[in-house]
Amino acid sequence: MTDWSERHRREGNVISFIPTMGFLHEGHLSLMKEGLLQGDKLIISIFVNPTQFGPGEDFDAYPCDLERDFQLAEDIGVDVVFTPNKADFYPQGFDTFIDQEQLPNHLCGLSRSGHFQGVMTIVTKLFHVVNPDIAVFGEKDFQQLAIIRRMVKDLNFNIRIIGHPIVRESDGLAMSSRNSKLTPAQRITGLCLINSLKKAQSSLKNNKTNAAAIIQDTVEFIGSHPDTEIDYIKICDPDTLDDVDSIDRPVVMAMAVKVGTTRLIDNMIL
Ligand code: AMP
Repeated sequence: MTDWSERHRREGNVISFIPTMGFLHEGHLSLMKEGLLQGDKLIISIFVNPTQFGPGEDFDAYPCDLERDFQLAEDIGVDVVFTPNKADFYPQGFDTFIDQEQLPNHLCGLSRSGHFQGVMTIVTKLFHVVNPDIAVFGEKDFQQLAIIRRMVKDLNFNIRIIGHPIVRESDGLAMSSRNSKLTPAQRITGLCLINSLKKAQSSLKNNKTNAAAIIQDTVEFIGSHPDTEIDYIKICDPDTLDDVDSIDRPVVMAMAVKVGTTRLIDNMIL
């Protein structure tokens, strides 16, 4: 992989890279289109990274269809699909992890202990092996993007990070590989995330600027849907991810909600 990148960079190409866990959907494809626009060669990786899943999470049940993914990647113009195997990437004795002090102690980091340590470690490994000029990440994983930007700055990676807006189904559900796990009824219930974000946006337009009050309304709205369990609903500063009390500047409203056993996340800049 590294040789391929080096060879094509020496020929004057800008290399774009998109790490994924596969089971590709329009959200991933939209990142790929961005990668193709920004660079000359596009590499994606497909690797379901064990170190970012906690005990009891869905590592073993994560959806997978490599043949379909290869076809989608080829159709859109990806040059390389890099699929490292687990034993090569985490050989026996593997013992080094990347961590961060502040940003992981918010949002998903609080309920998924060690998750971002796993994410930062795999992204670092992929960056070293793929050695891209540009990497594209989705704003759907808002906290992940913030953490990667911080890491790239702090550790002097010579890689330009591009954030890409959330891609949604026509009814507003944020696309996710995990949506495939929803039953038809849960799929409808899943709309309560985006609908609650839209409600919050319109509350704010009606001068309701108290974050706690908006969150309380959201808790009640989501709670009124069957089969839901709120992990968190937060209104926070987009850079530090610290809670905001009164909304007097752009904030990010972010949430994680279990619908049945499937954990969904969504966010919106208000
Ligand atoms: P994943 O395969 O879930 O690890 O996602 C790989 C990349 O695609 C990450 O940068 C995600 O943020 C991004 N991504 C996933 N779903 C979406 C979406 N609906 N819209 C935009 N980006 C997404």
